[in-house]
Amino acid sequence: MNLGKYSFGVGDRFGKQGKAQLAAMVEAGKVGVEITPVWNKSHREHTIIGTKPAAVRAEADEAAKEMLWEQAYFVDADHINLKNVDLFLEASDFFTLDVADYIGQSSPKDQIDNFIDGCVKYIDGLTVPGIEGNLIVTESVVRTIGNKYLFAVKQAGEIYRHIVSKKGVGSFVVEMSMDETDMPQSPVELFFILAAAAQEEIPIQTVAPKFSGRFNKGVDYVGDVEQFAREFEQDLAVIAYAVEEFGLPKNLKLSVHSGSDKFSIYKAMNKAIKKFDAGLHVKTAGTTWLEELAGLALAEGNGLRIAKQIYAEAFQRMDELTKPYATVIDIDKGRLPSPDVVAEWNGRRFAEALRHDQSCGRYNPDLRQLLHVGYKVAAELQREFTDVVADCERIIGPNVTENIYDRHIKPIFID
Ligand SMILES: [Zn+2]
Repeated sequence: MNLGKYSFGVGDRFGKQGKAQLAAMVEAGKVGVEITPVWNKSHREHTIIGTKPAAVRAEADEAAKEMLWEQAYFVDADHINLKNVDLFLEASDFFTLDVADYIGQSSPKDQIDNFIDGCVKYIDGLTVPGIEGNLIVTESVVRTIGNKYLFAVKQAGEIYRHIVSKKGVGSFVVEMSMDETDMPQSPVELFFILAAAAQEEIPIQTVAPKFSGRFNKGVDYVGDVEQFAREFEQDLAVIAYAVEEFGLPKNLKLSVHSGSDKFSIYKAMNKAIKKFDAGLHVKTAGTTWLEELAGLALAEGNGLRIAKQIYAEAFQRMDELTKPYATVIDIDKGRLPSPDVVAEWNGRRFAEALRHDQSCGRYNPDLRQLLHVGYKVAAELQREFTDVVADCERIIGPNVTENIYDRHIKPIFID
């Protein structure tokens, strides 16, 4: 099963916007850019909302059917490990093997020695087409990388072989992710991580490294954009070279777990994929849920009432809600409006504070981040929430499509 050159991961916390999301890929198709949709939902999201992977499969199938979508689409078991992969076996045909927690765990010396033996060709002379000059690689560099990453890649191998034993070879797409960790991986590290994946015979089609800078949920990139651009281009060069050298799948590409809304690096990503004629997978998650919330507010009446209720409760329960996302959000509590103030807002005022429009003086990134992780409150409301969403669909749907197409797909893949 082959993932196309460009693909886009859409999360949909409540599973109601599949068609509106797919409409964004249809828009791209109209200007001649083919983008494969991938519905991703992690075990963490399923646990918080109380849903099962089968619901994501049903949503994707229904959206494709109703939109007469004949191209490929996938359902991603996002950030899974050996403990929870079984829950996803039936519904998913894309598996993101998350081995970030195993980074730094040591491997037996003979395994490290084997790994180095397999990489001996690159010691004292790694030249990657597209990267100027020689990259500095010594035996001790490779040993350090092996000690840091080999155990994690071998874990990915174990999860991969487990899935194969249940689903069969070639029946799913494999991603290996190492993004949810503190230390970014350099392009040289990525090269040897790919060497290890090839030695482990994992046919990865996407790889999600941790890039430098902060990828906080729902807000823009925080970091040095030029440094990111340099690193991103070098990663693309490394991947192209690794595919040739190690015989990895030809369509292997980077996966950017964006946390949504990394507008300031989109231009650099766009330029780089075109320069290298490279593929790209971009994962977003919460952006659709926030459009649902903005749409509810704009609908006034019951919609606005429930949006305010969710904010008020999220405000009270901030510590609990932010805990599972501690490494990917930075909320300045002092900048959050009190629920009493928000209670006085009309729908437009609420949407202006929530929507990620940096040119709007009323945009409040702290409020946005809190609501991004506040979906648990909406999940607890169950039908009370989803019924109002259904009532406001005429406002929400077009916003979901426009948000994905105009704010993400267009700047990354098209412009
Ligand atoms: Zn991720």
